[in-house]
Amino acid sequence: MTQRTNLPPGAVHIAGDTHYIPGLTNSGFVDGLAIDTGPEESAYEGTEIDRLAITHGHADHFACGAYLRNRGATVVAARDDAALVENPDINIRGMFSWAKPGDILVTKLFLGAPCPVDAEVEQWRDKRATPVPLPGHTLGHTAFLTHDDVLFTGDALYQEALWKRHPLPYSIDPDMVVASLEKIRSLEFGWLVPGHGVLCDRETAEKDIHFHLAQISDVEELLLEELRKPHTTEAAIALVSDRRGLSDNPAQYWLAVTTVKGYLGNLLGRGLLEFTVRDHAGVWRTAD
Ligand SMILES: [Zn+2]
Repeated sequence: MTQRTNLPPGAVHIAGDTHYIPGLTNSGFVDGLAIDTGPEESAYEGTEIDRLAITHGHADHFACGAYLRNRGATVVAARDDAALVENPDINIRGMFSWAKPGDILVTKLFLGAPCPVDAEVEQWRDKRATPVPLPGHTLGHTAFLTHDDVLFTGDALYQEALWKRHPLPYSIDPDMVVASLEKIRSLEFGWLVPGHGVLCDRETAEKDIHFHLAQISDVEELLLEELRKPHTTEAAIALVSDRRGLSDNPAQYWLAVTTVKGYLGNLLGRGLLEFTVRDHAGVWRTAD
């Protein structure tokens, strides 16, 4: 067990070779393979890391990416998220329909140091973990299941306790989030480590999945009920934000814009909403 001499200082053992470093962003460690990083470079002091797998292209998941790469790690991310890791500004532009928002509009989760990506997760060949695509939070979002049956889910699953602080978690496509939650449920794992939250066993994870799915249904039902009276896009965003109890600040608002549009687009795609333009404003209405 040579890896015992090569552990990040704060690493907590889970099973077999699999450890994690608890923090604002939890990160994994499997015998020299790191999965995501927290914000502190000191967490990796004296530790040899040959590969860093990044779950998705939000800067709070690869804050130490460039640092670990400079120390010899090969950085791996999914094809669809690699550009976001290499250039975090793309998230900021995307959030604002590719226009340039002022700094005040930007969540700090999108601000961070760029990190070059060396390999795509689609070419993954590493027995320490298996990548599992779980899109919805971002397009290329990927979980990693270690050879010790520990699943690192990034931001695909929000545990029940987290919903108080994040009553409308960011996603670009709730239908994809639902499919990804079902996918998690179908996997063989003993332990689950979310990007934010706490290590949990399978039974607790199943309850969290159930809770997350129920929250998505609640938002859909709210929209289908309230949009029997037509709402502009702006009014629909305000409606959901108010009901979910979001605070009124620019960064939260712009995250909610993407998330609510995700719901509207999905419901339109399923034929449950109708969309028209009236007086130069987009208007949504529940289909008859
Ligand atoms: Zn994220």
